[in-house]
Amino acid sequence: MRNVFNFSAGPSMLPEDVLKDVQADILNYNGSGMSVMEMSHRAKVYEEINAEAEVLLRELMNIPDNYDVIFVQGGASMQFEAIPLNLLNKGKADYIVTGNFAEKAWKEAQKFGDIACAASSKDKNFTYIPQNVKFREGLDYVHITTNNTIFGTHYASLPDTGDIPLITDASSHILGEHIDVGKFGVIYAGAQKNIGPAGVTVVIVRKDLSDKALPACPTMLKWSTQIKEKSLYNTPPCFSTYVAMLVFRWLKKLGGVAAIQKINEQKAGMLYELIDNSSFYKNAVNPADRSIMNVPFTTPSPELDEKFISEASKAGLKTLKGHRLVGGMRASIYNAMPVEGVQKLADFMKKFAVENK
Ligand SMILES: *Cc1c(COP(=O)(O)O)cnc(C)c1O
Repeated sequence: MRNVFNFSAGPSMLPEDVLKDVQADILNYNGSGMSVMEMSHRAKVYEEINAEAEVLLRELMNIPDNYDVIFVQGGASMQFEAIPLNLLNKGKADYIVTGNFAEKAWKEAQKFGDIACAASSKDKNFTYIPQNVKFREGLDYVHITTNNTIFGTHYASLPDTGDIPLITDASSHILGEHIDVGKFGVIYAGAQKNIGPAGVTVVIVRKDLSDKALPACPTMLKWSTQIKEKSLYNTPPCFSTYVAMLVFRWLKKLGGVAAIQKINEQKAGMLYELIDNSSFYKNAVNPADRSIMNVPFTTPSPELDEKFISEASKAGLKTLKGHRLVGGMRASIYNAMPVEGVQKLADFMKKFAVENK
């Protein structure tokens, strides 16, 4: 039994049931006599893991048939480069900059063409999502970040891009709430928040966008390479994909994304309600744009923030320090964080406020 709750933004908690499955399988996976870490990715037993991961993700996210799903390496950050290299045929794209990762994606793309920032919320330290954004003509795509991990913001509604493919970095909310896949050209996400261990990255690509890579696009970054080879072009991160597959099984058993979204809304609601009803805690985000995955908050002073983080850690509430760009605290409450953990944090917050008024 573990007696801490880990509020890390990523890598973050995994479901305890999944870790127990991993433990049970570690020496001898499915009668193979081997750990998944030791087996060939060409072995039938691994091909089954790879195939089941895709089937389950398709089912969980209700991914339409006109989309390909691949599991690649390099993290979400590698996709910052892959996106322009796979899509920038006219050489022109717009980005909405709503945080640190959105800004990195935008800067990376600038190496490859005429890349504009259509809107940014940097003027208010990324505490809101820009509305009614206008885009240029003749674009290959528009890129957004639907959940901003560091700042705790989230798109309540998507920008209207008409026929222009909308691309999103969904790293910190994929599988945490409903995502209407059909509204996007490409959805990508690093695993280490809501999917599994770091090392594997999910890319969901609409088929008409999957084979448009620029001639200079490296083979390894070309989505079509991995689509053709069912994510087995080269040695994949087998162990990470296997754990992701177990997380998908766990989530399906729990009732899927609709069920976990209810729980996630309940968890986030507990914290936001406490913060909003308190004169001690503050959350700087525009209420309509709040994330249910990442909840940043502050006490009345940086000194008290530090005391909060240290005392919370002693109470088993770990990794609550906010990102250096925001300060204060941040509770990342992804799918694997039980209601009980958030309840314990809320109780601690109430007690700390009374004791430090
Ligand atoms: C964590 C995160 C990233 C970085 O992911 P890597 O897999 O480390 O490259 C990018 N975008 C968002 C929204 C994130 O939350």
